[in-house]
Amino acid sequence: MLKAENKLNCKQESYLLNALLDASEDAIYFKDTESRFTRVNPFMARMFGCASPDQMVGKTDFDFFTDEHAREAYEDEQRIIKTGEPIHAKVEKETWPDGSITWASSSKMPVRDETGNIVGIVGISRVITERIEAEQEREELMRELVRSNEELEQFAYAVSHDLHEPVRKVKSFGELLQQHSQDSLDEKGLRFLEYLVDGSNRIQEMIEDILSYSRINRKGNSFEDCDLESIVERAKSSLELAIRESNASIVTSPLPSMKVDANQLERCFLNILSNAIKFKSEDSPKIEIWAEEQADNWAFFIRDNGIGIDEKFYKKIFEIFQRLHSRSEYPGSGIGLAITKRIIERHKGEINAVSNEGAGSTFSFTISKHL
Ligand code: ADP
Repeated sequence: MLKAENKLNCKQESYLLNALLDASEDAIYFKDTESRFTRVNPFMARMFGCASPDQMVGKTDFDFFTDEHAREAYEDEQRIIKTGEPIHAKVEKETWPDGSITWASSSKMPVRDETGNIVGIVGISRVITERIEAEQEREELMRELVRSNEELEQFAYAVSHDLHEPVRKVKSFGELLQQHSQDSLDEKGLRFLEYLVDGSNRIQEMIEDILSYSRINRKGNSFEDCDLESIVERAKSSLELAIRESNASIVTSPLPSMKVDANQLERCFLNILSNAIKFKSEDSPKIEIWAEEQADNWAFFIRDNGIGIDEKFYKKIFEIFQRLHSRSEYPGSGIGLAITKRIIERHKGEINAVSNEGAGSTFSFTISKHL
């Protein structure tokens, strides 16, 4: 019987070692200074297709793996034996003679005798094939996603670009027809013509919107050090008339300077501020802007006292052409926040919207400090 308080004798040590080797679901092995197996645990023997651990004693990696992998392992082990430097959790690709591939995370360290001489190595190898294959599959899916997104984007760009001219023609000939047929067409005919011109105007706007959406990544400027307060000031001066007409107040706390694409950031503030004014409640708009520093980002907040947003639409409003109201209630095309989101993503950040408990909404976005 083992007693915790007593120093273990050699025999007891060997019980423990045997129990550990038998129980392990990792491959554990000892090798001599020539990298020949001197002992392996049962799990490893099973993995290597041997009926018992003894069958592996005296053999080397060259008896089991392809030369390429066996040579790399041999060189690692000879270096450990020479320098005493261990290897921790090295990810190894193991190619077997039948062509199959497994992956292992291997740690190896020197075994020393009582005088401190290195007499071999001990290795522990964990099979991580499933994890590595899942990672490879995920990486392949990501590459595929990026590729198909790029294709889709090029397609959207090409289609919108090529639609420009025919739509312009429909619109201008429709307008010409309106001018020339005031007398020849009856009321119904003139109304149909009006729908046609309206519709082509709308298509033209949507094409412009899609083009400006896809220009964000294609035509962005480089990131330069900018003072965010002056960017907000520029956005505010573009909104001067709307601010005056709605009697809006915009209070801005100190904002940092950081690397951004100034024109794009101005557009973000312009979109969010103009929405804060447009979607106002009965009170005049009260808007606050402030920034908070985080480890890798700056976070910016824009709070309004407007009509607020239903929680189920928090994500939807950032999708292209998604609006929660009809154009007759509130004018707009539903592109502003999609463009804003895209700009923020180009700045390695995220954007969110929440409704305030009382009333109104808070938009927040982050911008990476490492652009
Ligand atoms: P647009 O303003 O042209 O409709 P946006 O993409 O800017 O398009 O906004 C999408 C929708 O999100 C708006 O139609 C509106 O329903 C909602 N929204 C955006 N900002 C606000 C806000 N500050 N308060 C309430 N609703 C908002």
